[in-house]
Parts: sequence; C-alpha cells; structure tokens
Amino acid sequence: MTERFIPLIDQRFGSLSAGVPAQPIRATGLLSDSLGRSLRDLRISVTDRCNFRCGYCMPKEVFDKDHTYLPHSALLSFEEITRIARQFVAHGVGKIRLTGGEPLLRKNIEDLIEQLAALRTVEGRPLDLTLTTNGSLLARKARALKAAGLQRVTISLDGLDDAVFRRMNDVDFPVAAVLEGIDAAHQAGLGPIKINMVVKRGTNEREILPMARHFKGTGIVLRFIEYMDVGATNGWRMDEVLPSAEVVKLIHAQLPLAQLEPSAPGETAERWRYADGAGEIGVISSVTQAFCGDCNRARLSTEGQLYLCLFATQGHDLRSLVRGLNGGPGASDEQLASAIGRIWQGRSDRYSQLRGSMAPDDSDGRRRVEMSYIGG
Ligand code: SF4
Repeated sequence: MTERFIPLIDQRFGSLSAGVPAQPIRATGLLSDSLGRSLRDLRISVTDRCNFRCGYCMPKEVFDKDHTYLPHSALLSFEEITRIARQFVAHGVGKIRLTGGEPLLRKNIEDLIEQLAALRTVEGRPLDLTLTTNGSLLARKARALKAAGLQRVTISLDGLDDAVFRRMNDVDFPVAAVLEGIDAAHQAGLGPIKINMVVKRGTNEREILPMARHFKGTGIVLRFIEYMDVGATNGWRMDEVLPSAEVVKLIHAQLPLAQLEPSAPGETAERWRYADGAGEIGVISSVTQAFCGDCNRARLSTEGQLYLCLFATQGHDLRSLVRGLNGGPGASDEQLASAIGRIWQGRSDRYSQLRGSMAPDDSDGRRRVEMSYIGG
C-alpha cells in the first residue's frame, strides 16, 4: 500500500518568491543557465485535473475522491498565461507544449491556443505550438484545436490491448476511443503526430511489439518512455524500469532498426528508423541515459509556479509578480522578463544525471513536484 499524503498542498505554498533584479536582465533571446543551457522549450500546465488515474503519474489511491483540486481563482487566466509566455518567447523560447493533468479538460482551451499562436519567436517565426493529451477527448476536439492554431499533438497510449490499457489508466477507459482520437487528429492535420508509451516492466512490456507494428508505416512516431521516479506518489522501483536499450533490442530483433541523429538540440528522444524505411520510433531514457546536458526546458504550473526541472521540489512564484501582492501593482513586462531571466541564469538542475546520489526529498524535506501538476 503506497504511503497516503497529498504533496500538492506543500508544493502550493512552498514556492520561492520571484524577485525583480535591481540590475535589469533584458530579453535578447540569448539567455543561458549556470550550465550554459539555453531556454528554448516551455511546457505550460493548464489544469491539475485529469480523467485518468495512470499509476505512474496520478495513482488513484492518492488522487482519490477526497483529493482537492486547485480552485479556479488560483489558475492563471489565459491572458496571464499568454503574457508570461510572451516573456519566455522574448528570451528565446521557440516551442510551447500545453500539458496538464489533461489539458483538454480546461474549458475553452482553444481561446488560449489562439492567443499563443499569435506570438512570434525572436526570429519572427510562428511558435512550434503543441499539446500532450491522453486522447480521451481528442475525437471531439481535434478540428477546433487545429482551427485555433495548434500545430501538432502528442498522445499518451500505453498499450493496444484493451484490458492492459484499462488497467493502466485505472478508470476503465476503452482504448478504441483513444485510437479514434488519433485518427481524428490525423484527419484534422495535427501532425506529425507522436505517441508516448510509458513502459513499466511487469505491466505492459508485452505491448511493445504490437504497438510498434500498429504504428509502423503510418507516419506516426511512437516513443517508448522509461518509467520514471517523478513526484512522490507513484511508488517507483528501479526493478520496474525496462531500460530503453532492451526495448530497442526487442524491436530490432523483429523489425530491424538504424539509429538516427537528433533532429534538434535538447531533444529528449533518441531516434531510430525502421531499416525498411517505414518510419521511425524514439526512446526517452531519463533513468538509464540522462539527457540533462542540453536540457532547455522550463515548466509553468497551472497556478503560475516556474519549475526548472521535472524533478524539482520547489517552483518560483510568477503569479504574484503578475497579479501584484496585497493589492499592489503587478510587474511590468520588462520586470517580468527580468525576473524570469534571473531565475533561469541561476538554474543548475540536472536531477537525472545525479539520480543515484540524490535523496528522495531535498535538504528541507520538500518532496518532488507531481508530474500531474507540471506536465511531463
Ligand atoms: S532531469 Fe531535469 S534537468 Fe535533467 S533532463 Fe529532466 S528536466 Fe532536464
């Protein structure tokens, strides 16, 4: 039985204040952290709610019927999200990924997408605007998302076998409905579509080959993700991790593969193509092959906390800067950009590289933030 606690409460109040530096940091698009890593990718969680209870992310025994979600007033509005995102883009962000929880549960998300789609990178190009979803609502929403300006989607799918899939989402949700959503995204032109499969040894590794065969030749890129020790509630154990090297070997034995070069700096997936030219797969190996060296990702929680790593224990409170404290005025765009600049410059996170040598809690006993709170 997993230990019963609700870490989110700690996370909500345990944040660091985001001060405006006396010496302004101007947004030039050339920002680097203390390890020389640029800021290129912003993940924005738009809700802490989800209609699934995947055990590796939001286990039912913790996120049960008594779980308290964030009140709506605590969530950043779409205007606040866009204003903050604009400062990140000015600092060099070229890709924004909307996440959750399940982002399609956020009402009128198309309005947010329209606002973000109007932003331009420092080079004047449209953003690479994407979204990660469990696919449960995609069949209904795909066309409207595309029309609002979303470019592509990544869908989480942990198996094709209906019983395995229902067991993994733990709400008895049928796999057919997600496959329908994938088709709808394809029809709507939300591509290239990527599929993320979390592989947990002893639970769904038998789905690896059926998934590979199903998506081979479709133009959809299937990625296998190592089961991670994210958050503090999923009861993670190393012996339930199936290393990506074994996944590649398993597929290669049946469907020969050849390795590909990364398509962009900071890419999390190691890419492999089918030797017969029928597409590619990826493996994301945060446990066995850490990729912190060029990690250029920042994460914004749905209530405006800036996290510098998926395994962070604290965020930086940008919402107070935007809204002002105790009725005082909020920060100007320049002040907001300057505060974000200083936070990023001070970043030294590299949890996956240090995993073995790190304690589960930080020195002040704070636990890692939940993935359902800041997105994967
Ligand atoms: S562990 Fe943190 S620093 Fe390393 S790749 Fe993941 S998010 Fe980036």
